[in-house]
Amino acid sequence: MVRDLTAHIRDVPDFPKPGIVFKDITPLLRDPDALAAAIDALAAPYADADLAAVAAVESRGFIFASAVARVLGCGFVPLRKPNKLPAATIAAAYELEYGVDTIEAHTDAIQPGERVVIVDDLIATGGTAAAAVELVERLGGQVHGLAFLIELAFLDGRAKLGAYPVHSVLTYDGE
Ligand code: AMP
Repeated sequence: MVRDLTAHIRDVPDFPKPGIVFKDITPLLRDPDALAAAIDALAAPYADADLAAVAAVESRGFIFASAVARVLGCGFVPLRKPNKLPAATIAAAYELEYGVDTIEAHTDAIQPGERVVIVDDLIATGGTAAAAVELVERLGGQVHGLAFLIELAFLDGRAKLGAYPVHSVLTYDGE
């Protein structure tokens, strides 16, 4: 199964800038069986976790997270780029593998004590995921874990996530 999913991920060299090998998930999204398998594999560890919500960063995180929330029977919390969310927000800044950015959450998106899993398509340096953890925790949520379809293990993004349990469906040990 894991080998099958890898076959649906396309390496695009030098995108979005020289030196980055971009993991293109669009072939996986286009394949019904691969898409279903990816969503099920992301959700599997949390079947009995009694989550309040799955949180994800736009935009590729959204593609999987809403479906994972549906599988787990919980809600979905969008973490968005600045000035996209209409009501009151909090913000966290972070460094990307290829830039700097900020994400925001609605202040009422998570209630104190609620258990949340953060989902994204890929963990590279871990900056995005760490910012997502920061937002969930500042809202009072409890980060139960983080799930990624792809982990670029050679960038050691896990190091930014301390003791939080990380679940990766596919792990790449080198470029
Ligand atoms: P990072 O904050 O460095 O862990 O970067 C993770 C975020 O950037 C994810 O939301 C990915 O969608 C995107 N990203 C970073 N590096 C890559 C890459 N090599 N291929 C595809 N997406 C990437």
